[in-house]
Amino acid sequence: MARLSLKNIQKTFGNFQALEDVNLDIASGEFICLLGGSGCGKTTLLRIIAGLEDQTSGEMLLEGADLTKVHCHKRNVGMVFQSLALFPHLNVGQNIAYGLDVRGVAKNTRLARARDLLEVVGLTGLFERPVSALSGGQRQRVAIARALAIEPTLFLMDEPFSALDAGLREHLQIEVKKLQRKLGVTTIFVTHDQNEAMSIADRIVILNEGRIEQAGSPTEVYARPQTRFVADFMGTNNIFSPEFSQGGPVMLDGVDLGSPQGDLAALSGKYTIAVRPEYVRLKPVSADESGLIGTVDFVRHLGASVETELSVGERTFIHTMVSDRAPDFQVGDRAEIQFDLSHAWVILS
Ligand code: ATP
Repeated sequence: MARLSLKNIQKTFGNFQALEDVNLDIASGEFICLLGGSGCGKTTLLRIIAGLEDQTSGEMLLEGADLTKVHCHKRNVGMVFQSLALFPHLNVGQNIAYGLDVRGVAKNTRLARARDLLEVVGLTGLFERPVSALSGGQRQRVAIARALAIEPTLFLMDEPFSALDAGLREHLQIEVKKLQRKLGVTTIFVTHDQNEAMSIADRIVILNEGRIEQAGSPTEVYARPQTRFVADFMGTNNIFSPEFSQGGPVMLDGVDLGSPQGDLAALSGKYTIAVRPEYVRLKPVSADESGLIGTVDFVRHLGASVETELSVGERTFIHTMVSDRAPDFQVGDRAEIQFDLSHAWVILS
């Protein structure tokens, strides 16, 4: 089983630095999602791991052995591209068995393995079908089966579901995750969709301009984004910069937000913090109007919960509450906004 170590990987195209000092250890059987916006270097990193591109500098070790010295055809990497790159002149079974054919595996063995994999990806009976006569989701499954046919040491996928509609995408995400767990194959999956990464990854690696901003479990990056970039990317709300005075009240625009808790108690000066919408409270405005007063701009009923958006000057705050306990504020109402500062954390800029 693979354990991949990337050490100080750099990649430049001419004067342009596409990857900068990428360090990452990937455990055997781990499902990693490389997450980031367009042009941040996700595909470049995947192509370097596959051997389709050389890094400019840095080391890549697989089970401690230098992977850079292994030619791409010998790396035993199964890859699914966004474009799928199925062979149009071959039928489904031949597409799946292709990698085994190239490796000189006997015909009976490769056909048997192709049939097994067809079953695994839920396409039993379509062996002889031309790939041109498949739906988008079926083609995706053929591409996955073809990549897995060689029993890859590393399974790499580059935005494989981005062209599919939302329902099919979610369905295939779950299937791929289950299949990957069953096979225990070390997997690196590129996506720019944070929901996709959240639902399938064991660990999410967030890239920004060629650098790793943060790596952690879906829960970690969701609950505690460390930088402004990751917070914005993960859709964190309620990010603001109050003044701290070492245990004194936390002040925002002259309003006392209460005492700082935990790590925040030691802060002094202006810091950017975040509070999740479920740790915001809304109260009727007090007679002396001493709290942080916002105006309700929008109320979204999401079934299980209600989300209320409020503005305070230029700032926007979001409050969520399970539906049966949600306060009854309407658009245009004024409300006092309170924060449970024991659940706030500092965001680095
Ligand atoms: P997307 O989500 O849009 O596919 P990405 O995160 O996968 O983006 P990459 O394809 O890795 O991004 O590209 C990273 C940067 O490197 C981009 O600015 C891209 O233009 C540049 N780049 C990639 N390949 C080359 C190349 N062969 N020559 C020059 N620049 C390149």
